[in-house]
Amino acid sequence: MTFSVHGLAVSRGIAIGRAVLVASSRADVAHYFVDPARVVEEITRARVARNAVAEEITRLQQELPPDAPHELAALLDVHLMLLQDEQLISGVKHWITERHYNAEWALATQYEIIARQFDDMEDEYLRERKADLEQVVERILRYMKGVASPVQPVGPAGAGRKLSQGLLLDDTMDVPLVLIAHDISPADMLQFKKSLFAGFATDVGGKTSHTAIVARSMDIPAVVGARSASQLIEQDDWVIIDGDAGVLIVDPSPIILAEYGFKQRQGELERERLNRLKHTPAVTIDGQRVELLANIEMPEDTVGAVNAGAVGVGLFRSEFLFMGRSGDLPDEEEQYQAYRKAVEGMHGLPVTIRTVDVGSDKPLDRIDKAQDSHLNPALGLRAIRWSLADPPMFLTQLRAILRAAAHGQVNLLVPMLAHGTEIRQTMAMIDHARATLDNKGTPYGPVRLGAMIEIPAAALSLKLFLKYFDFLSIGTNDLIQYTLAIDRADESVAHLYDPCHPAVLRLVADTIAECNAQGKGVSVCGEMAGDVSMTRLLLGLGLRSFSMHPSRILAVKQQILRADAGKLSVWAAQVLDAEDPAALINPASAPMPSPVPANA
Ligand code: PEP
Ligand code: MG
Repeated sequence: MTFSVHGLAVSRGIAIGRAVLVASSRADVAHYFVDPARVVEEITRARVARNAVAEEITRLQQELPPDAPHELAALLDVHLMLLQDEQLISGVKHWITERHYNAEWALATQYEIIARQFDDMEDEYLRERKADLEQVVERILRYMKGVASPVQPVGPAGAGRKLSQGLLLDDTMDVPLVLIAHDISPADMLQFKKSLFAGFATDVGGKTSHTAIVARSMDIPAVVGARSASQLIEQDDWVIIDGDAGVLIVDPSPIILAEYGFKQRQGELERERLNRLKHTPAVTIDGQRVELLANIEMPEDTVGAVNAGAVGVGLFRSEFLFMGRSGDLPDEEEQYQAYRKAVEGMHGLPVTIRTVDVGSDKPLDRIDKAQDSHLNPALGLRAIRWSLADPPMFLTQLRAILRAAAHGQVNLLVPMLAHGTEIRQTMAMIDHARATLDNKGTPYGPVRLGAMIEIPAAALSLKLFLKYFDFLSIGTNDLIQYTLAIDRADESVAHLYDPCHPAVLRLVADTIAECNAQGKGVSVCGEMAGDVSMTRLLLGLGLRSFSMHPSRILAVKQQILRADAGKLSVWAAQVLDAEDPAALINPASAPMPSPVPANA
C-alpha cells in the first residue's frame, strides 16, 4: 500500500529505486555486493557460520553441569531452534541470491525483518524471543568476523568499492537503489559519493548538517529528518525520494510512478538547459563581475569544480581527510600530497584550504561521536579550538598547507575563531610552521590568510579580524546555528533554523559592508551561497564572491545573469529593515494573512 513519509528537502531532484536499508544498530556489519558468480560460495559461508554456531551451542549444552539452572538449558534449546528457523535460513539465502548482499548484510537484513514480526506479536513470551534471536544473530556475525571471507567482495574488476562502514556497491546492479538509514556519518556519506545510490533518506539530520551538505555535493535527491523512515520502509520496497518537496513515497502506485517519472525528466531537461551557461562569465546586467567558487571535501572534487566552471575553490573542508580512520591522523606528507593534488587539480586557480574542523556533527569516527553524546559538541572542542588544543597536529597541517602553496595560489582559512587570543595563537603557529620549514630547507609558498565568520562574536569584532586577516569567509551554516541557538543537525528544531532571520542578515550584511569598505576580500561559503533564493539579496548586500558545491554553481549563475546589482542594493536595504525579511526575499513563501474572524 502506498504511503508517504515527510522530512526536510536537502538535495534536489527525484530518485526512484528499491530501498537498501542500512540498520544503524548493525553499523559495524560489513555491507557489500558479491559478484554474481560467487553467490553460491557466499551462501555456503553463511551456512558454515550457522552450523558452527549450532555446534558451539550444542557443545555448551553438553558441558552444562548437572546443577545448572533448568532455564539455561531451555534457553540454549531456544537458540538452537532459532538457528534452524526456516524463515531465517531462507531469508538469508534470498538476499544473497536475489540482491547479491554479502552474508553478513543478508543476515542483518533478515534479522530486522523477523525482529519486526516479533515486535508485533501479542504474546509477551514470544515477543521477548526477539532478544534471543538477536543473540543468535550476533553469534553468527561474530563467527563470520573471526573467519576471513573467502569471497572477494567485488563485482567485475574494480567495480565494487568498499565504504568506511564496510558498505560496498556493485556498479553492475541495474536496479536503481536508494539508501535508507537512521543516520549516516559525514565520513560514510563521503564514501557514498563514489557509489551508485540514486538517492538517500535518513531519519535524523537538519538541512545544513554535514551529512546533508555532503549529499548536496553528490547532487542526488536526498531527504533528511524523515523521523521514522528507516522503521516504516522495508528492505527492497520501491521508494520515490522527492528531494524538492522533502517527501518519500513508499510502494507508489503506477499513476504516482508515472507522474514522478515525468517530473524526473523535467529535472533532467532543466539541468541540460543550465549546462549551457557553463562557459558564460558570471556578470550582472549592470556589469558587476561575480566570482563563483567551489566547496570541496576531497582533492578529487576539483574535477567537478572545474567542470562546473568554478573559478577557484573557496572552501576545501580538509577535515574529511581526517575522518573515518579510527583516530589515525594523516601525517604531513599525506596531507601535503592531498593539498597539492587539489592545487594542481585547479590548474592555477586559487584554492582555499580550511584548517581542520572536526567535532560537533563531524566526529573523527563513530566512537568519537558516542563519547561526545553527553556533552554539547557544537559548543565544545571543535574546529580551531581542537587545533589549538593539539599543537603538533595543527603544526603538521600548517606545514603541509604551506608546502602545497609552492604549487599554486593557496589561501589558508581558519574556522570558528572568536577570540583575539585564538587569532594571535594561530598567527604564532603559522610563523612557527614557516620557521620549521625554513630550518629544514623545505620549499613552501606564500598564502593569503583568511578567517571564517561563523560565530556572532566574530561578526561583531570585525575590526579585530580585519587587522590580522587578508580576507573573511562567512560560514552562514554555523553563523545561523550560533546566532539563533539552533542545532543545525537537529531536525526537531529545523523549523527555527532561519537564514532570513533579521539578526542573521544583519551580521552577514555588516561583515560584507565592512570588508568592502576596507578593500578586503569577503565571500560566503555556507549553504546560503548556493541557495538561489538568497542570491539577489547577497548581491544587493554587495557580495561578489560566492562559494558553494559545484552542483549549485550554474543555478546561481543564472540568477546573477538576470540581476541588476545596483537596483538590488536599494531593495536589500529595505529587506534588512523589514520585520519579516523572508516575505520580501521570497514572496511566494510568505504566510497568508490570517483570516478575518467571522464576528469582525
Ligand atoms: C559554515 O559553517 O557555513 C561552513 C561553511 O562551515 P561548515 O559547514 O563546514 O561548518
Ligand atoms: Mg562552519
